[in-house]
Amino acid sequence: MNTPIKGRCTLVGAGPGDPELLTLKAVKAIASATVLLVDDLVNDAVLEHASPKARIVHVGKRGGCKSTPQAFIDKLMISAVLEGEHVVRLKGGDPFIFGRGGEEVENLRQAGIDVVVVNGITSGQAALTGLGVSLTHRDHAQGVLFMTGHAQPGAQGPDWPSVAQVCHQQRITLLIYMGTSRSAHIQAGLLQGLPAKTSVAVVQNASRHDQRYAVTTLDALHNTLHNEGIGSPCIIAVGDVLTSLCALKEKSSLPLRCAA
Ligand code: SAH
Repeated sequence: MNTPIKGRCTLVGAGPGDPELLTLKAVKAIASATVLLVDDLVNDAVLEHASPKARIVHVGKRGGCKSTPQAFIDKLMISAVLEGEHVVRLKGGDPFIFGRGGEEVENLRQAGIDVVVVNGITSGQAALTGLGVSLTHRDHAQGVLFMTGHAQPGAQGPDWPSVAQVCHQQRITLLIYMGTSRSAHIQAGLLQGLPAKTSVAVVQNASRHDQRYAVTTLDALHNTLHNEGIGSPCIIAVGDVLTSLCALKEKSSLPLRCAA
């Protein structure tokens, strides 16, 4: 008979950056963790809920450092759980939106470990909500599409002209994660299916004290990012739900801030 596994694992979404956007479940999980594995987009402020005795391991790649290989993170999680630890894997935003959370759950389950997943607010949603824009304002959109701007190694990445056609025909708000380094390519592709003057917002560090954003039109997306010096982590949002924000920004020089 197999010996029962003593430890456990919780995969936790730490939200977009503002530590007050953590869920109560996330706070409870962080507080009860004995080992925390922390991704690079997680705001360190959320770690103040951790026990002083917890072991905290940063596995991110910001600041030019190399990221910890995924296989190593998986091994670390599995061995810590087998040793009886409560491992909390902290990920930026929601663990299941472009966060490799799905892969981690599969690997843990294959090792016989059950995982609890705690939602976080995904950055794409937080980016627009923070600007007072509804992703699904019924006058302008009947859906939302979450896309990655980043192609998997060996893959082509999204077919932007097709994405644009669907968004245009179906009135869908488009949220692009990890898109800044390929913005020229994305812009060119989207222009094949969406009008040049489609409204766009780019939001860097959404919900953080250093949040910056700009509004523009699709034909000026790449130049706006470049001229405003807006880079990763950034959400590119495209669609008519942004039109009233663009109009407001034109009229007023006041910066629109996210909730404090
Ligand atoms: N699981 C995360 C996404 C991870 S992929 C989530 O749900 O938000 C990493 C990408 O997310 C970044 O390249 C950027 O596009 C976006 N991102 C994460 N945090 C962000 C933030 N605070 N502001 C803007 N974009 C952010």
